[in-house]
This record gives sequence, structure tokens and C-alpha cells, in this order.
Amino acid sequence: MPSLPGIIIDRPHGAEAEDAFFRLTSEVEKVTELYRHLHANPRVSGDEGDTLRTLMDELPAAFEKETLPGNVGIVRIGEAGPSVAIRAEMDALPILEETDLPWAATTGAMHACGHDVHMAAFVAVARTIAAMTVSPAPLVGILQPREEVGDSGAHDVLRAGVLDTHDIGAVIGAHLQPALESKAFSCTSGPVNAAADEFKVVFAGQASHGAYPHHSSDPLLAVSAFVVSCQQIVARNVDPTQSAVLTVGTIKGGSSPNAIPDSAEVTGTIRTMSEEQRLMVQRRLREVANGIAAAHDCAVRLEIRKGEPILRNDPELAAEIERLLDGQGHTLREFRSYGSDDFAFYASAARAVMIFTGTEVEAGNLHSNTFTPDAGAISRVATAMLTGYLAAAHILKQHGPVHPSVS
Ligand SMILES: [Zn+2]
Repeated sequence: MPSLPGIIIDRPHGAEAEDAFFRLTSEVEKVTELYRHLHANPRVSGDEGDTLRTLMDELPAAFEKETLPGNVGIVRIGEAGPSVAIRAEMDALPILEETDLPWAATTGAMHACGHDVHMAAFVAVARTIAAMTVSPAPLVGILQPREEVGDSGAHDVLRAGVLDTHDIGAVIGAHLQPALESKAFSCTSGPVNAAADEFKVVFAGQASHGAYPHHSSDPLLAVSAFVVSCQQIVARNVDPTQSAVLTVGTIKGGSSPNAIPDSAEVTGTIRTMSEEQRLMVQRRLREVANGIAAAHDCAVRLEIRKGEPILRNDPELAAEIERLLDGQGHTLREFRSYGSDDFAFYASAARAVMIFTGTEVEAGNLHSNTFTPDAGAISRVATAMLTGYLAAAHILKQHGPVHPSVS
């Protein structure tokens, strides 16, 4: 039986697992061209039809393949029974690429979040699992559109009942993370990404000539006071041993240097790591907006759009993945960030773990126009996905699926 030098796989995962990791190495080499094709032909959120067809074509014929409305692809291999799902997101960002890569995109869209790497890694993992003579659990691939936008593709997958239809007992996700050193993996237990809600506050006042401000109720002053005051919600209402983020991203108001407009607005994002904190920040934001409006003799309207929930990694599955990664000699790190990912919707409905894989970036960072992950990125994401699959299959065999309470 072939084995990789220095790699010790725990026996509960069996010789099949050892073979699988050995096979994965060659499957990863074979998806390089696919990765370059996906990178050169990015499709933004809502336009992933092409990408989905490419992925479907790359998967072995033994996979059952189904396309659901909205460019959701569900592929499956294995007998009936509790299955393990791996999520691969397909969308690119509307960014004009500025890398020197020979396979750089030129269309104004760019895979600047590494989803091309994730997709190529998924195909390598799917081919590896399809080749296992005894697979430990059916595999369901969730080829997911629209991760980058509010109209979440993960939401569509759940609404379509895919978890029940395919008896999915655990969901695995993997994402490049340049904040971690390359070669490091992280599958920290509990909350790892924040809930992400967006807000918009509109102050409506009384317009006037800029030289006669006493005839106005100035919404620009109200907005200015609001932007400063809302920072005190985190500074003075959040336990300093924990944290939260409240960022104002846009301020709009006025069109002339010598006129006071009749309205002005700000938008921003709220990132929290507990449901209690999430509700508290929303309540305080409303109170601060109302107070500022009263002080400036303006009316105010506050809208909060609920986004992704907190992403919580299942503790038992995370521990099993860590054990397997450690057994392979990989470096493990604890990592949480106030970023968000719609993978959190799966983690709210099923046992799930998001594994972050360290990535050395040759240039740029996630979502930048020069983002260039290192050459080993596909291999590490594939290792994370296959390890997650094996660990989840092992746990399902022991305990069966467990559905956490929805947050
Ligand atoms: Zn992403």
C-alpha cells in the first residue's frame, strides 16, 4: 500500500484514507489547467451558469448531477444513508484584475476571493473519493452560486431542502486565509466568523441657503454626529474582553458648497460574534440615531438588513479534523475573524466546519485586484476538504447526524 513519508493517519480512518491522500496528490496536479481556465473565465454572482457546467463536465460520470434553479449544482456519489457535503462557491467579484498572471482575467470580473482555487480543489477531492473502493460515506457536492452578495446561494440550497433530500449529516467548507501563514490550517471550535448585518440611516431636515443656516435643520451635522457617536456603541457597550465591529462605509448628502441639503444618509456594516451582542448593537444604533435626530431637529429612518448569521464550527467535528490534520503533520492555528461567509447558513442548520487554510500571497489580499495565491494553495484546500470529509464520515458512523439549534 502506498503511503506518504511522514504522514501517519489514525487507524479509525483506515487504510482507505491513507490511499485517498496519496491519490489526492496526483489529482491536484491534474486540476491545474482547470484552475487556470476558471481563473481566466470568472463569472460574477448570479452569472455562474458557465462555471457550473464546466464543473459538472469535470466530475466523473459516476456522480449523479442535478441543477436547481439559480445555478445551484448538487452532485452526489455513494449509496443511500447519511452523507457528507462539501461546499464549493463559484462566484467571482466585479473587480478589474491587475495581476501579471498569464491566465489573468480581462473582463472586469476576477476570482479575487480564491473561489477558483476552492472549485479546482473540490474537483480533485471528488475524483479522489469517487476512486475509493470503500468510501466511508456518500459525498454530496454543493456547487454554490452567489456567496459574495446578499442574495445568498447558501440560502437557496437550504430553501430547496437539499440537506433533507440528501440526508446530509455534516457540511464541510474550506477557504483560503492569507492572515494565516502558508502551510497552517485552522478549524477552531465555536464562532469563527461574525454575523454581518447592514444598516442605512437617513436623516431628513430642512434645506436652506448656506449663508442662512438658522433657517435649516441640518442633516449633514446630524450625519456627522451620528458617525462619531455610533463608534461609542462598541467602545462603551461591548465587553472589552469580547468585541464587535461597526463600520460606516458610505456617507452621502448635499450637492453644493453653499447650500444645506434636506437629507443625508450613511450606510455601514455591523459584525458581532454572539446573538445577544447582535441585538444589543442594533438596539443601541436605533437609540443613538433617534437621539441625534432629536438633538438636530431632524427626522430619522433606520433600516437594518439581516445578513449572514454567526459561523459556528461544530466542536466535535472540528476536534476530529484537527486530530486528523495533526496526524498528517500539519500546523494548526486558532483563528477567528470578523469576516463573514454565507457558509454560516449551513452551520446554523447542520453539523458543519469551515476550515481556513493559510496562504502565502505573492501579491494583494482577498478581494484585491492583485490577489495572487501561492502555487500550493489548491493542494492545501483539497487536503482540508478531504480531511473534513473523512472526519465527518467517521463521526456520522459513530453518532449519526446532529442538528444544532438554529441561532
Ligand atoms: Zn470567499
